[in-house]
Amino acid sequence: MEEELARAWIAAVTAAVRTEADRLTELDTAIGDGDHGVNLRRGFDAAAAAVDSLAPGSAGDVLGKTGTTLLSKVGGASGPLYGTLFRALGKTLRAGGSLAEGLQAALDGVRQLGKAAPGDKTMVDALTPAVAAYAAAAGEGEADAARAAADAAAQGARATVPMQARKGRASYLGERSIGHQDPGATSTALILAALADVTAR
Ligand code: ADP
Ligand code: MG
Ligand code: MG
Repeated sequence: MEEELARAWIAAVTAAVRTEADRLTELDTAIGDGDHGVNLRRGFDAAAAAVDSLAPGSAGDVLGKTGTTLLSKVGGASGPLYGTLFRALGKTLRAGGSLAEGLQAALDGVRQLGKAAPGDKTMVDALTPAVAAYAAAAGEGEADAARAAADAAAQGARATVPMQARKGRASYLGERSIGHQDPGATSTALILAALADVTAR
């Protein structure tokens, strides 16, 4: 991944999070504490600023910086989880790995930290199919793979609606968490849609 693409991705995520913050917060009001949009807006505004003032380097540097900024600026569950995701991505790219390998490392990091499995109604339900779709389409080039990952993430997010939450705040609701789309799976789909958009340019 080129450094310019990584910078464009973080800028696009920041814009998307700003546009969708109210919707993310609404989803989190239904099954959580209503702060997911606010959390992510604060985090990505800070990450975009940190990346803007970051000296030229590599895509791995940009994504690693994004991760450490999210870790330090966002409380709650999603800050450490998205921080881990971007740090794992950055670390893999800096070591010379591919984006497919980076996405797999990101998923591994999120699962190791949050201990959520597919079906628990979390961001893992969007990230897991996205990583698989990216890997399956990687041979067709970055743009096609990113589009496949974004489509799979959106589908994975929609698939959380009938699930009962088994991790995070939503799990406190038990059966009452059924019938709502998971906020974190929704924001993961936004992040991958932003990747597909900038990669297609
Ligand atoms: P909090 O729940 O602490 O207020 P946010 O509202 O920002 O944090 O984020 C909530 C989202 O975090 C959930 O919708 C879910 O997708 C994700 N999440 C929560 N716990 C976990 C976990 N253990 N593993 C993976 N994702 C999780
Ligand atoms: Mg919340
Ligand atoms: Mg909270």
